Amino acid sequence: MPIVRVALNVPVDTLFDYYAEHASQENIGLRVSVPFGKRQLAGIIMEVVANTEVTPEKLKTIQSIFTDNPPLPKKLLDLFTFCNQYYHHPIGMVIMNGLPAALRTTKPIKLQKDRSATWNNTQLHLTDAGKQIALSSIPKRQRIARSLLVRFQQADSIPGEAFKEDSSRIKQLIQQWRGLGWINTNAPHSAQDNTVIDSNIPTLTVEQNHAVNTILSTQNSYQVWLLHGITGSGKTEVYLRLIAAVLVQDKQTLVLVPEINLTPQLEAIFHNRFPYTNLISLHSGLNDTERLQGWLQAQTGEAKIILGTRLSIFTPLPNLGLIIVDEEHDHSFKQQDGLRYSARDLAIFRSKQVNIPIILGSATPSLESYHNAITGRYRVIQLTSRAIKNAALPTIQTIDTRIYKTFNGLSQPLLQALRTNLSEQQQSIIFINRRGYAPTLLCKSCTWTAACVRCSSRLVVHLRDKDLRCHYCGHQEHLPIHCPECGNQDLTPFGQGTQRVTETLSTYFPNARILRIDRDSTRRKDAWRSILQKIHKQEIDILVGTQILAKGHDFPNLSLIGILNSDNSLYSTDFRASERLFAQLMQISGRAGRSNNKGQVLIQTEFPDHPLYQALQRQNFDALAKNLLMERKIAGFPPYVHQAVLRAEAHRIETVIGFLNTAADLAKGYESIELFDPVPAQMLRLKGMERGHLLVQSASRKQLQIFLLQWQKQLSAVPTQKIRWVLDVDPVEL
Ligand code: ADP
Ligand code: ZN
Ligand code: ZN
Repeated sequence: MPIVRVALNVPVDTLFDYYAEHASQENIGLRVSVPFGKRQLAGIIMEVVANTEVTPEKLKTIQSIFTDNPPLPKKLLDLFTFCNQYYHHPIGMVIMNGLPAALRTTKPIKLQKDRSATWNNTQLHLTDAGKQIALSSIPKRQRIARSLLVRFQQADSIPGEAFKEDSSRIKQLIQQWRGLGWINTNAPHSAQDNTVIDSNIPTLTVEQNHAVNTILSTQNSYQVWLLHGITGSGKTEVYLRLIAAVLVQDKQTLVLVPEINLTPQLEAIFHNRFPYTNLISLHSGLNDTERLQGWLQAQTGEAKIILGTRLSIFTPLPNLGLIIVDEEHDHSFKQQDGLRYSARDLAIFRSKQVNIPIILGSATPSLESYHNAITGRYRVIQLTSRAIKNAALPTIQTIDTRIYKTFNGLSQPLLQALRTNLSEQQQSIIFINRRGYAPTLLCKSCTWTAACVRCSSRLVVHLRDKDLRCHYCGHQEHLPIHCPECGNQDLTPFGQGTQRVTETLSTYFPNARILRIDRDSTRRKDAWRSILQKIHKQEIDILVGTQILAKGHDFPNLSLIGILNSDNSLYSTDFRASERLFAQLMQISGRAGRSNNKGQVLIQTEFPDHPLYQALQRQNFDALAKNLLMERKIAGFPPYVHQAVLRAEAHRIETVIGFLNTAADLAKGYESIELFDPVPAQMLRLKGMERGHLLVQSASRKQLQIFLLQWQKQLSAVPTQKIRWVLDVDPVEL
């Protein structure tokens, strides 16, 4: 009887063998249900073989093979295998991490019937470019295309519904022509009705045009492109044109975006540009059925544009033509638990696998990508000016808070700038990267501060809900009425959070319409959409928000940005802190001056001379990046070395360090591997566990991989009842 080798969701890096009557090579990639101990587990067939090392008495028979969903394609299985080997994570867990929940169960799947592309109340018409197309330029044998052109020429505009019953060829043509800029639609996508989108297809700027043409010149071969474009340079438009070209070839595009509330906006833009294209969006807001549905449409090739956060890198894409990673520097592309993969790096693997181009877009590329560009591994395309005519970059200045003292977090010059901006009916943003009311609750008579019982962190005061919260583990407790140490009743919220800044601003500007935007205020479904509407309808004067404000959103009337408390990250122990702060501040600054208003950014700081702020004021990414790279080179940090970190946790740090010392002993004597001392984590306790890590690095990725393979095996043999450990390859934080 044939034997199938199955990947199961268990923490052992091996395949499990079972008898399977009638199984054949065609079954590879199919989902099965198998007995495992006393349980039934779902698994994926990875191999079908004739022999096994398992003794016949021990070999069980699979329970069922599911054929309700098609087998996972070979390319996807190869991706999983690569992850297994590169990240040293058990194969079954790698696969189950990537599959939609419905495919991780031992139950058959339920499918919805209606999978038609979205048809909406749009009107289509020829653009000026489209009107220039002569019927004679379309070959006679392309009868369908010719009659479609005539149909458009004879009407001012045609409602989208009119094409509903037409053949898929016609829908495809419409989509192609739209991509070519021959036809246009003039209504927003219905599901996003109120999102404001300009549906005219703009004429590309010289730089955009160059970017599109250059990338298209290698359309059918592997190449990593770093699209380094300042904020507002129109990277999205470049993506849209490239996608159009890919659609013309009837291929799929995967667009990866960071894990923030950006997807709906981008989804609306894409829908609006390609109204007849099947676009799916895969993000954490979906329920299991929706995710499965999207996944299956991608697998059949029906879905042409797949927009998603990091997990969508594991979507089966049989006909992939292009990958785009927007905001490629964003750390949310790296998963921070379980399988610690980098979706950006895997995206590069995938594009190589099928020999297609990949675009990494950013205003502030990661130093890794930047380095790869300098050394010629990636090709760079720069967009150095803003796409909208007359839109200029904002001016960036610092306010020296040693001279201009702050009161409740705000300095006089910033308040004055806000006042002026309000009187000119312009919108302002105050950016502070801490939600809640105040980061600390302090007793001034005995210096007690409220701390989390489970983490080494302070509890954040959330005055609105009258409680204290840990932002690391979610622990909540009531605001105490007196100090638990000395009984003092006068406890002081210390420092600033979004709630407090909002409160302070409303005392200064009682007539201003002030809105707070942070994770607390946007938790409700659709909250973002209504906020964006308010902003666009000019119903808001001042926005107070955290980094979720920073990305992607277009606020046309915004001309002032105040930045509070960014000094915290300047002297961090994490060598990536500067890079991250710079990216964040560039991004938030990029929100200003997007249309005809000039923008102004004011940073309150005690260190106005710090090189980071200097580079920021000159908006000179290259200068800073080269500086940071030099520092990294001297210090022997990535991208000049490759790192992996062994993370461990237990109830007591002594246990952790003991284990890490054993691990360090095992790691000695390997060629070109540099081993650091085991250390407790910067934040020692998290969720009741104490944590530590051991860093290893090597100038050679290959040597590091050879070492990790051995080390992982050795570590697995160490008895570790009280310890949880994991390897993190290419860590982005320690
Ligand atoms: P980025 O992602 O590079 O920060 P966006 O893609 O958000 O920039 O584009 C910024 C703004 O410029 C958007 O409002 C977009 O509609 C507009 N835009 C892009 N390309 C053009 C163009 N060629 N002509 C006019 N406006 C453009
Ligand atoms: Zn006290
Ligand atoms: Zn906590």
